[in-house]
Amino acid sequence: MDFNLSQEQQLLHDTVWKFTKKEWEPKTIEIDESNRFPMWLWERFRELGWCGLMIPKEYGGAGLSLLDTCIAIEAATHAGADVGSALAWASHLSIGSIPLLVCGNEQQKKKYLPKLASGEWMSCFMLTEPNVGSDATGVETTAVREGDYYIINGTKTFITNAPTADVGMLMASTDRSKGAKGLTAFMVDMHAPGVTIGEPFDKIGPRGSEQAEVHFDNVRVPVEDRILEEGEGFIKVGVQNLEYERTCLTSIWTGTLGYNVDLAANYAKERKQFGKPIIQYAQIRERIAQMKMEYDICKLLMYKAASKKDSGEQAPLEATEFKVFVGQCGIRSASEAIQIFGGYGLIKDYKIERSLRDAKLGQIGAGTEQMLMEIIARITTGTRSLTI
Ligand SMILES: Cc1cc2nc3c(=O)[nH]c(=O)nc-3n(C[C@H](O)[C@H](O)[C@H](O)COP(=O)(O)OP(=O)(O)OC[C@H]3O[C@@H](n4cnc5c(N)ncnc54)[C@H](O)[C@@H]3O)c2cc1C
Repeated sequence: MDFNLSQEQQLLHDTVWKFTKKEWEPKTIEIDESNRFPMWLWERFRELGWCGLMIPKEYGGAGLSLLDTCIAIEAATHAGADVGSALAWASHLSIGSIPLLVCGNEQQKKKYLPKLASGEWMSCFMLTEPNVGSDATGVETTAVREGDYYIINGTKTFITNAPTADVGMLMASTDRSKGAKGLTAFMVDMHAPGVTIGEPFDKIGPRGSEQAEVHFDNVRVPVEDRILEEGEGFIKVGVQNLEYERTCLTSIWTGTLGYNVDLAANYAKERKQFGKPIIQYAQIRERIAQMKMEYDICKLLMYKAASKKDSGEQAPLEATEFKVFVGQCGIRSASEAIQIFGGYGLIKDYKIERSLRDAKLGQIGAGTEQMLMEIIARITTGTRSLTI
C-alpha cells in the first residue's frame, strides 16, 4: 500500500495545477455569471490533450487510469477551477466516453473514441427524464426497431453538456414491459434530424456547465450504434460504469474541499480582529482543522475507490461511500469557510460563496444521497439488489 503519487502522477497534478492557476481560476467569476460552459476552455483542453484522459492511446487518448484522471480533476478544483466547467470536462471524460470504451464493439470504438479523445466531439450521457430520476428503471423514452434503424421518441432532462455535445449515449426502452431489463443503450448524433435541445437551465450552481432537456421526435439511429444487445443497457452498460462515473465526478468536489481550506486559512491569517489575526482564535483553528481532516479523508477514499477499480475489481461500496461522504463534507466545508470569512464570505469577489452553491449538486447528481445511503446499507447488510 503506497500513498505517494508516482513521479508521473505528481507531474500531471502540477501541470493541471499551474494551468488552472494561470488560465482557468482567473476567469471563474466570469464563467459563473455567464451560466455557460466556456468553449475557449474546451479549445485549451484540446490543445493540451486533455479530452481523452482515460481513452487508450491506440484510439488517440492519453491512456491514463481512473486514479490518474481523478488526480488531474482534483488538482483543477483544488487550484480554484469552478465546479461547473470541471463537471462538463469530467462528464465528457467519464460518462461521455467510458461506457463506450467498456461496452462498445471494435467498430463503435473506432468510430467514436478518436474524435472524443481529440475533443472534436464533446459527449453527454442521457438517462434522466422528467418522470424518471432516482428510479431509472422506469425510462419512458422508446426505441422501436424498423429494419436497420431504431426510431427514438421521448424526452431526457438535466443532461450535462447537451447544448454543446456532438454525440451522446442514450438509454431508451426497447420493451417497456420489462422495466430495467428492457433498457437499451445507443450512441446518438446530437445534430440528427428530430433532436431538439432546450435552453440551459438557470441554476444556483454549478453554473459553468450546461444542463438542458433533449427531445427526440422520430429520431433514426442505425442498428450499428446500439451498444451491446437489446435489454443490456441498464444491467450491463449502466451498472458496470456507475463506479467510473461516481468516482470521477466526485473528484471534482474533493478538490473543492482543498480549495476551501486554502482560502479560509489564508484569510484567517490576514484578517485581524481584537488586535490579532483571527487564525489565533481556537474556534477558527478548530474549524480549519476539521475542514482539513475531512479533505484528507476524502482524498484517501478517492485513492481507494479509483485504485480498486483500476485493478479490475468492482468497487461499488468504495465508490458510493466516497461520493456520499464528499457530498456531505462539501456542504459543511463550504459553509465553514464562508463563516471564517464573515460578511466578506457572501461577496462574490472573495471567491468562496460559490463553493456553497456548487456543493449542493454533490448530494444530488449521479445518485442522490438517500439512494446511495440505501446502496451502502444494502451492501453492508448483504441485501443488495441489482437495480440500483
Ligand atoms: C446539475 C445536474 C447535472 C445532471 N447531469 C445529468 C446527466 O448528465 N445525465 C443524466 O442522465 N442525468 C443528469 N442529472 C440528473 C440527476 O442524476 C438526477 O437529478 C438525480 O438522479 C435525481 O433525480 P431527480 O432530480 O429526478 O430526483 P427524484 O428522484 O425525483 O428525487 C427527489 C427526492 O426524493 C428522494 N427519493 C427518491 N426516491 C427515494 C427513495 N426510494 N428513498 C428515499 N428517498 C428517495 C431523492 O433522494 C430526492 O431527495 C443531473 C442533475 C443535475 C441537477
